[in-house]
Amino acid sequence: MQGLMQDYQLTLPPVFARAERMYGDKELVTATADGVLRQSYADWAAETRRLGGALDTLGISAEGRVGTFAWNTARHVALYWAIPCTGRVLHTLNIRLFAEQLTYIVNHADDEVIFVDRSLLPVFTKLLPTFEKVRHVVVMDDGADAVVPDDPRMIDYRELVDGAEPVDFGVDDENRAAAMCYTSGTTGNPKGVVYSQRSLYLHGLSAMMSTGLGIRETDRVLPVVPLFHANAWGLAQTPIFTGADLVLPGPGMAPEAIAALISSERVTFTAGVPTIWMGMLPLLDSYDFSSLRRIVGGGSAVPKALSEAYREKLGIPIVHAWGMTETSPLASVSLQRSSDAALSAVDQADQRARQGFCPVGVECRIVVPDTGEELPWDDTATGELQVRGPWIASGYYDDDRSAESFTSDGWLRTGDVAAVDTHGSIRLVDRTKDLVKSGGEWISSVELENRLMAHPAVAEAAVIGVPHPRWQERPIACVVLEDGATAGKDELIDHLRPHVAKWWLPDDVVFIDEVPKTSVGKFSKKDLRAQLADYVLPAGASPVDELG
Ligand code: AMP
Repeated sequence: MQGLMQDYQLTLPPVFARAERMYGDKELVTATADGVLRQSYADWAAETRRLGGALDTLGISAEGRVGTFAWNTARHVALYWAIPCTGRVLHTLNIRLFAEQLTYIVNHADDEVIFVDRSLLPVFTKLLPTFEKVRHVVVMDDGADAVVPDDPRMIDYRELVDGAEPVDFGVDDENRAAAMCYTSGTTGNPKGVVYSQRSLYLHGLSAMMSTGLGIRETDRVLPVVPLFHANAWGLAQTPIFTGADLVLPGPGMAPEAIAALISSERVTFTAGVPTIWMGMLPLLDSYDFSSLRRIVGGGSAVPKALSEAYREKLGIPIVHAWGMTETSPLASVSLQRSSDAALSAVDQADQRARQGFCPVGVECRIVVPDTGEELPWDDTATGELQVRGPWIASGYYDDDRSAESFTSDGWLRTGDVAAVDTHGSIRLVDRTKDLVKSGGEWISSVELENRLMAHPAVAEAAVIGVPHPRWQERPIACVVLEDGATAGKDELIDHLRPHVAKWWLPDDVVFIDEVPKTSVGKFSKKDLRAQLADYVLPAGASPVDELG
């Protein structure tokens, strides 16, 4: 017997229409160089509908990819809705990627138009000639005086949107693509994750729930996580689902600016990578944080000491969440269970430091990668973490590397190594993907190694991440020199300089006799890390003040 319920498509336009009708008096606040801009939901929704009309005016095809190269602003949130609500595909571009990767991504996704914040034009304009299909560039004036290039493709956002007619939104197929976000591959170019209307709908619902982020109508939500990272952790969608106010920091991502905004705008909910919360730690006595009820940290492990420092100062620990671009991204949250109350304070802090529980909709398992044997949930056995669910990717866009990331029975291989306790709480212990995550952004070890091994004096090079107090991890290069060859640290770093972004450059070069190998002769990063367990970064290491 079948159920007798309607076959209702899970798409974004009805969610938008509901917010427009119900929460017209709620607000989106954007910080700018000239103070904050306030927009009611009603005005924002009207602008979003005109933005939809503008995409028609520009002649963007029915499933056209629309890029954004922008900070966290109310306009960016409008794009998050206008694009998929007209059936097109939002493609958020990571402004911190280096040139070659951005060129690849824009061309691979076939972006037809890109919306760019004016303050980002100095980076963007240099890349424009490399974009093959981009027919229009819509410049969003954010008060910066960056030069707008003399190019017929340039269009002013205000003129475009003011001149456009508002449109009715509607999408009839829940499986239609709604958004794309590229993520780093261990080797080669970034890989495209494609969210559907249905996956964003279900992820948005899950994020609202107490087993997700628990966002409510009464919240004032400040996404510190960039809107171009991993579907903004759902924070461009979920507040609109629930009618929460949104407070958007614009380009002001420094800890002081975030702290001031939390205090002046009475923010109740905020989320970002641990680097941000580390940066804000010295400011906890200097601003009024009494409005905050929840701080979420993810993207990298939230150190227990950091979370505890927040709990001691503000009375709220950092809620730890884990996920990936491929998982939309919320796949587990370290929630407290009622039985935790019986635990000692130390044990409770240990619980909170775990990556936590999958919400309804996400299933996880840990397996031996080579055999696929499933391991017990005893918090001791460790294996590759695999997940599945309706907001977990099933493949990468037009990419033959998909096969290596998915099992034959349809689970995503996360590349994270975890133990799971008897209740199902995940604890990450390692990573099998050869990447270093610095301040929330990926650095490819393999890319650095290949460049280093192209130097005539280098026989072998292995790059590993080491702990860093601000950036969480920084790369160091372990180098074996050719017999009789000489090359110093500065020479090798200078050799890398023309090829990679500044923040990718290793903080140190350690000269070793041999890179440890596995039984099949591959570099054993695990053994190398063990060998360098006592290594400490030189004082003052880390060449970059700010990422990017
Ligand atoms: P991305 O796709 O850039 O969001 O990166 C996803 C990866 O970041 C995961 O596979 C993990 O390796 C890492 N990651 C994300 N959240 C956490 C967390 N809470 N703790 C440890 N690592 C994390």
